[in-house]
Amino acid sequence: MPAPHHSSGSLFMVVAPSGAGKSTLVNALLAQEPSIKLSISYTTRAPRPGEEHGREYYFTSPEDFLERRAAGEFLESAEVHGNYYGTSRILIGDQMRADTDVLLEIDWQGAQQVKKQFPHAVGIFILPPSIAALEERLRKRGQDEPHVIIARTLAAGGEIAHAPEFEYVIINQEFAIALAELTSIVRAARCRFAQQAARNASLFAQLGIHANFS
Ligand code: 5GP
Repeated sequence: MPAPHHSSGSLFMVVAPSGAGKSTLVNALLAQEPSIKLSISYTTRAPRPGEEHGREYYFTSPEDFLERRAAGEFLESAEVHGNYYGTSRILIGDQMRADTDVLLEIDWQGAQQVKKQFPHAVGIFILPPSIAALEERLRKRGQDEPHVIIARTLAAGGEIAHAPEFEYVIINQEFAIALAELTSIVRAARCRFAQQAARNASLFAQLGIHANFS
């Protein structure tokens, strides 16, 4: 896989405790910026109502997941709320080579693993405006059993403790503002010198810019 700074594409990692409104924000971003490809993870969690294999996740068994992990198929993987989740190295590699912007919706453990391999990956942490708002969102979603909601609310504190590891933080109080902030981060990342130089190599050469960036 080429080093990320030789690719004009950016790698974004969006991390949040469940109930912070991450998926809604990411879906709105993708509708607005169709050039960004969302990485579809593997998971051993059961599909929620309305979720489709190959759209939200590749749903699989723990046996299959562990086999893939042992075979080195995952760029990163983690156990979250008692289920395994992992990002396919192959899918990401193909997209990075195609100079595509790729977005990973992962947890903090996965983000740490990705950052080690791709130091230029852009980390964005989404915070809820309060713990009460987060619990409320989980309940309203109505997709999880009450004991799962309680477990996820308790786990939120642990996830939030990792917010300082991220370059960007968005407080999802007002959706329109949070979306505008997320869009701004994506656009700014695309304007980083290395990304611009890779995307506009002939212009940079014409202008005599021969940067030796790393
Ligand atoms: P959910 O089950 O609600 O879809 O996701 C639970 C948590 O797992 C979320 O924090 C989500 O970001 C995380 N997650 C989803 N896919 C991956 C993945 O491929 N790798 C890692 N490390 N976490 C993931």
